This record gives sequence, C-alpha cells and structure tokens, in this order.
Amino acid sequence: MKTAPPTVLCWFRRDLRLTDNPALCAALEEAQATGARLLPVFVWAPEEEAPWAPGAASRWWLHHSLAALSAELAARGAPLLIRRGPTLATLQALAAETGAVALFWNRLYEPALICRDGEVKAALREAGLKVESHNGTLLAEPWTVKTGGGGPYRVFSPFWRSVSASLPAPEVLPAPATLPGLANAPDGLPLAALALLPRIAWDGGFYRAWSPGEQGALQRLDQWMGQGAGHYHEGRNWPAADHTSRLSPHLHFGEISPRQLRLRLQRELDGGRAGFAPEAEHYVRELGWREFAHHLLFHYPHTPDRPLYERFEAFPWRPAAEAAEDLAAWQRGATGVPIVDAGMRQLWGSGWMHNRVRMIVASFLTKNLLIPWQEGARWFWDTLVDASLANNTLGWQWAAGCGADAAPYFRVFNPVLQSQKFDGEARYLQHWVPELAQLAPAACHAPWTAKAGQREAAGLRLGEHYPLPRVDLAASRDRALAAYGALRGGADG
Ligand code: FAD
Repeated sequence: MKTAPPTVLCWFRRDLRLTDNPALCAALEEAQATGARLLPVFVWAPEEEAPWAPGAASRWWLHHSLAALSAELAARGAPLLIRRGPTLATLQALAAETGAVALFWNRLYEPALICRDGEVKAALREAGLKVESHNGTLLAEPWTVKTGGGGPYRVFSPFWRSVSASLPAPEVLPAPATLPGLANAPDGLPLAALALLPRIAWDGGFYRAWSPGEQGALQRLDQWMGQGAGHYHEGRNWPAADHTSRLSPHLHFGEISPRQLRLRLQRELDGGRAGFAPEAEHYVRELGWREFAHHLLFHYPHTPDRPLYERFEAFPWRPAAEAAEDLAAWQRGATGVPIVDAGMRQLWGSGWMHNRVRMIVASFLTKNLLIPWQEGARWFWDTLVDASLANNTLGWQWAAGCGADAAPYFRVFNPVLQSQKFDGEARYLQHWVPELAQLAPAACHAPWTAKAGQREAAGLRLGEHYPLPRVDLAASRDRALAAYGALRGGADG
C-alpha cells in the first residue's frame, strides 16, 4: 500500500507575502528535497500577545491581508489553513494529523512572542520535527548589532552608522511559482470565524484609504515611486501632501520586506533617476528607525509599559480622574487645537496619521495635557492600522522625552507654530476639521486668535461649532517644564 507523503508546515505570522519570504522558500526547498507536501498555516491566538493583543484597526487589516494571502497561496496550489490557538497545541495537533516532519517560520521580536516561539521550537524539536526560524522582517536583527563595548545601542546615529556600514547589496528571494500542497488537507476555519472585522461599522474610511495584502503593497510602492518619492526628503514633513510612502501597515504585516524596498530604490538609482540619491538615502534611514525600534524592544523588553530611563517612573503626571475629560477630548479630536484635532480625526477616520502630526499630538498629550505617554500609546495601539509594539513604543517614549534618543524634555512642540510651518495653507486642517473650512487659511491654525468678525463671516462660533482650546498653550508648556525640571539630576536607570 502506498503511504501518504510527509508534510512540511510553513507557519505564517506577520510575513503575509510570497516574495522575499525566507521561511516559505526554506519550507519549499525542504519539501522538494524530501518529496514532502507543503501546508501553509495561520494560527490566531491573540491572548498569547497579551497585554498587547492586536487592536481593532490591526485586526481589520489582518482580516484583509489573510484573505489576500489565502488567494495567492491557493492559486499556487497550497491553500492557507486557518486555526484558532493555543498555538503550541494547535501546531502539535496539526503535526500529528498530517505526519509533519518539519516546521518553518519567520521570526518576531515582541517579548511575549519570543517566549512563546521558544516553547514551540523546543516542544516540536522534542517531538522529532525539524524546526527552523528565519529573518524575514529586518535588515539587521537586534543581536547582530553591538556597541564597541558589546552592549546594545541607545542612540540612533551610531546604531545606524554601524548597521548601514555592513548592509549587503540588496537581494530578494523570488515568489515561488507553484507550491506542492496537500491532496487532502485537514479542516481549517473560514476566515470569518476569527471575527476580526468590527461589529460596528466605523471602518468605511479604511476601505477608501488602503488595499491590504502583498499586491496592495506593491501597487502602493509603485504609486509612491512615481509621485511622492521624488520629494521625500523635504516633503515628508507636510501632512497635506502624499510624499511619505504609507507603507507602514504593509511593512508591519510583512506584505513587503525592507529588502524589497532597498532593492527598488537601488534600481531607481541604477536606472539613473536624476537627483534621487538624497531621497533614497533618507528613506533607507527612516527604515533604520524601524530597525532601531526593534533593537530597543528586544534589548529593553520592559519599554512598552515603562520608561527606558528609570528616573522617569517618578514623573508627576496629572491624576487620571482629573485628566479623564482631556484624554477623551484628545481621543475624539475635540481639543480645540486644530492641528491636534486634525491628526486625531485622521487616525480615527483612516487608521493612520502622518508622522509629523503623530509627534505633535504626542507632545500635546504628554506635555500640554500632562497625561502619561502610556495612555497615548494604548489609544494608538487600538486605532492605528500600522500599530507596531516596537515603533509605537519608540515614538511615544521619544515624544515624552523618556526614551532612547528622545526629544529633550524641554522641547515642547508649539502646535500652532508647527501647523503654520508644515501646513501653511491649512489644507490638512480644513480637510480633517471641516468646521474651519470657511475660515481664511491663515486663521485656521489658532482660530481663537482670529478677529470675531472674521469668525462670524466664516459661520464659526467657538465653543459651539468648534471647541475653544482645552488648555492655554503657554501656561501648560510652563507647567510641563516645571514637572520635567523636578526630575532633573536623577540617575538614569
Ligand atoms: P515613511 O516616511 O514612508 O517611512 C518608511 C517606513 O520607515 C515606515 O513605513 C516605517 O516602517 C519606518 N519609519 C518611518 N519613521 C519611523 C519612525 N519614526 N520610527 C520607526 N519606524 C519609522 N510607526 C509604525 O509603523 N507603527 C507605529 O505604531 C508607530 N507609532 C508611532 C507613534 C508615535 C508617537 C510617533 C511619533 C511615531 C510612530 N510611528 C509608528 C513612526 C512613524 O510615524 C510611522 O512609521 C510613519 O508615519 C509611517 O508612515 P509612512 O509609511 O508613510 O512612513
């Protein structure tokens, strides 16, 4: 009697693509070498990521990204099998059901997942499977970069000098044309059974803004290359313009890899694109911040919840009960400070916010409102489609002044000046805060300073159509400086 061929499992996590996927390529090679069949698997186990289980916007993205991946895999002959966790028990059961001899995946760097993946690796190796993990996410994994003294970096520039000095010429693994799927794959769950989409339909704007999945990522890359990329260096600061790549959610879910981005930039340069070198260099440097964020999260796993520098633990934030209404107004985009409200409404409406505005709203929350950065990080976690534990932690600790290479505590962004400088014509403001649409652009940055007649002509009554600012910007800046000043002289943790 003919026995069934063995199975090789390829466990997809946040590497939801076929091109440049080292685990998929290794799994395929193993299957080809041993005459095995390939079974791509996704296991949904959000509780294993606690306390940072994917938020609502991330789940929306994941749903659509899994749908896209399933279609690509099925078209190549090996449909994706979806199951619910716990992960270890699920993979053990699948291995038993399919007679699996090997398991491959690409690594993740969140503390809870490093721990979980270590257990999976040990248990399945113990059961006799070949288990291999790969790097499909980063240009340089956290443990490969060390200071002269052998420790981790805490400052970006030397970190990036060290990484960029040893980057190989970009190369990308091609997507497999066909995959040897199982003839009789075991039962999986339909995607809808994971209930990733919101029950209340607040996601209409997401559909207009995004195309999750590998093809969506490649299309977005093409679009950006043709338009925004040519002005990236300067244009990346203007929130009304489309000069940044908007690839962050695609990168987060591994629909495209940083190596693919480097290769594409290199090809543009090799093709002689005039004046492109500084734009390309700046873009790769921004990818470097993503690398740095993962480096920090790996070496300082406490930082999603606690400041990198211990002395900031004693920071005198306002008591939660006193600040509750301000926090709610910030979340709703109703602080009365237009650039802050525009950013928070862009976040709610599209699941994304421009980087310049992320810095402004974070500074406003932590400094003008004196609300803990962790509250902001939590809100972003639930509402961003690119919510990444590494990048979000770095961004918030940077803004609050308590993290690696952080903005010095005395740098309190003036949201009105920022708005005037980076959205001079108020296009971003008027788009996201339509209450200001009839006001002269110059008056939109601080409508409370506009002449009453000017506001009246624009049909704008402050306090009725649009709020008055919840805080006095100058007084709240002084209050923040006094609070930060009280910490000076403490020893770094
Ligand atoms: P581009 O300018 O096109 O940059 C290309 C890529 O480089 C990005 O997609 C991203 O992967 C990476 N990158 C760029 N800037 C940074 C940065 N400062 N830190 C780390 N990586 C960077 N980014 C996230 O991906 N997820 C988050 O949860 C997140 N939270 C943030 C919170 C705060 C308070 C702040 C200030 C920044 C945060 N960022 C986060 C970083 C940055 O705002 C976004 O990566 C960027 O706006 C994404 O847009 P883009 O793809 O058009 O960026």
